[in-house]
Amino acid sequence: MSNVPKMFGSLVFNETVMKDRLPTATYKTFKNAVLKGEALDLPIANIIANAMKDWALEHGATHFTHWFQPMTGITAEKHESFIAPTADGRVIMDFSGKELIQGEPDASSFPSGGLRATFEARGYTAWDPTSYAFIKDGCLCIPTAFCSYTGEVLDKKAPLLRSMCCVDQAARRILALFGQATEKVVTTVGPEQEYFLVDKAMWEQRKDLVYTGRTLFGAKVPKGQEMEDHYFGIIKPRVLAFMKELDEELWKLGVLAKTEHNEVAPAQHELAPIFTTTNVASDHNQLTMEFMKRVALRHGLVCLLHEKPFAGVNGSGKHNNWSIATTEGDNLLNPGKEPHKNTRFLLFLAAIIKAVDEYQDLLRVSVASAGNDHRLGANEAPPAIVSVFLGTELTNILEAIEKGKQYNPDAAALLKLSGDVIPALTKDNTDRNRTSPFAFTGNKFEFRMLGSEFSIAGPNIVLNTIVAEALNQFADKLEKAADKDAAMKKLIKETIVKHKRIVFNGDGYTDAWVEEAKSRGLLNLKSTPEALPYMEAEKNIELFVKHGIFTAAEVRSRVEIMLEKYAKTINIEALTMLDMLYKDILPAAAAYTNDLLGNAASKKDLGIKNCFEADLAAKISELTAKMYNSGEKLAKALKGAEKCVDMKDEANYYHDTVLKEMELLRSYADAAEELIGEDYLPYPTYGKLLYGV
Ligand code: ADP
Ligand code: MG
Repeated sequence: MSNVPKMFGSLVFNETVMKDRLPTATYKTFKNAVLKGEALDLPIANIIANAMKDWALEHGATHFTHWFQPMTGITAEKHESFIAPTADGRVIMDFSGKELIQGEPDASSFPSGGLRATFEARGYTAWDPTSYAFIKDGCLCIPTAFCSYTGEVLDKKAPLLRSMCCVDQAARRILALFGQATEKVVTTVGPEQEYFLVDKAMWEQRKDLVYTGRTLFGAKVPKGQEMEDHYFGIIKPRVLAFMKELDEELWKLGVLAKTEHNEVAPAQHELAPIFTTTNVASDHNQLTMEFMKRVALRHGLVCLLHEKPFAGVNGSGKHNNWSIATTEGDNLLNPGKEPHKNTRFLLFLAAIIKAVDEYQDLLRVSVASAGNDHRLGANEAPPAIVSVFLGTELTNILEAIEKGKQYNPDAAALLKLSGDVIPALTKDNTDRNRTSPFAFTGNKFEFRMLGSEFSIAGPNIVLNTIVAEALNQFADKLEKAADKDAAMKKLIKETIVKHKRIVFNGDGYTDAWVEEAKSRGLLNLKSTPEALPYMEAEKNIELFVKHGIFTAAEVRSRVEIMLEKYAKTINIEALTMLDMLYKDILPAAAAYTNDLLGNAASKKDLGIKNCFEADLAAKISELTAKMYNSGEKLAKALKGAEKCVDMKDEANYYHDTVLKEMELLRSYADAAEELIGEDYLPYPTYGKLLYGV
């Protein structure tokens, strides 16, 4: 790969291209409209659309699409060609400002949670000029927001953009108190993406992976991750070739793919980009996941983004590194060399602590899914209890403030703080805090509860909104104060006293923490059906409505969509298990026992005394009988779901009843797998899947 800087962003209609191709006045009008969040006039849009089209044609594009992010969690696109007929029977390539600004895809097949009546199937997509257009597969992709004909949002981008505006306005109120003017405040995100790679030929033989993205059966391998030899280990040639090509594809699309390495589990890897504005980071993460899947196929691999593809080894998450910064590049979560004297930093920190404490339920809801339920609380990812890790340094500072004492950094701390403060603070943020759901890591927070398959939009909508709310409450108080400095210090102190229960620096995997969290009154929402209804709590609906993120109806519809998705996911998993049981596992076990018994009979005829076959066949038969009964019970449990009265009831039913039966069935099948000869097994084992690339 010769010239990375030249390749980078070569398929993006970015700043450079715009400056180059748009008349200066148009470019300035455009930039100004983006900054202020104002709509563009049609004449301006026409000029931009035309320049975009010319550029796209030069890069081999023939089509355009409004690229959007419906509630399915993935992206959607409907390609339209640029062709327009002329009077003399030819075609020209045309793209108007109207086509750029607004599209009208049929919305009827996307989840709406009851918002959109079926007779009104039309939906609108609206251009998001804050995220650059790009070319993918010969198609000009225009990032857009998606709403119903009557204006209800049906996607993840519109509320994310709204939440960005809320943070901007709230943070600027705080900065104004310090006399700091800024063009704009944004939140920034760098999401670390984990994934598994498996051989495609093996993947094809596993219905569970094909239909559900995770293995539903599979005996543990003799070697899992206990040797700790995969993390950061040497990357295998086939995986390396994949990573190299993935980087190239992403760079062309302007994605700042930065680090690629092996993760903890065998066959598990991670990609981290350099952080950028949340909205763009969210679009880029969608592209990253899409290209991971595509590029893998080119290498005879399949990329698994499911949170728990394999039992017994680590699942995959997505760490959402998040901060607040001015567009001039001033990171508002940078503690500086003397954090204890940095009132601005402490104010933002206090606001975040307050926000996380008051809206722990919403943060938990934002990471709830059937897949992620296998991780949270399973001692491999943060527990389901939301808490904040600050590290010793900051905790000591806050404690001093709380007690009204002078903070005296000790000699060692001084030494650390005298240099670059970031590595110093990061130092004590290593080991233990891997268990923290929301950890301060030097100049940003790392929200670690996200599942690998998530769109990062949801969790960031919540983060932005709750922090904007806290900042606004602070501003309301402080703007009125005569002595601003004194008022700020008082407010920081009050906030710490009130919300310190959410701060926890210890090991989140221990039972002691579960007990302590309970005594502190923190929530421990263990499963998705348990967590989701919290989104509809009055205080949460109030929050969303107040900030114009969602209407009450939109909140309810989202809960409905997520509950339904949960129930459907488990339903498909259960059906897949039954299919594999009857079509694959029982026949395999029968064939093996049949051969064993044949052998046993032959030996008996020959008078051979020592014979293991009959004994082994009996053991397997006992397990197959249990499997069969368990399968019957599971099928019956699935029928029972029909009696559920509403979506909440149904989601709970799948969790409490169906999942239990699935676990039982799996335990028998896995025990049998251990006894059945490799050649008889109907699908590749964990050993082959995890070590076969
Ligand atoms: P880790 O120890 O978790 O690997 P890194 O320093 O490598 O930490 O950063 C992880 C991610 O955090 C990267 O994607 C990086 O770009 C992102 N990041 C760093 N600074 C910020 C910031 N100010 N805002 C958001 N994300 C950030
Ligand atoms: Mg990290």
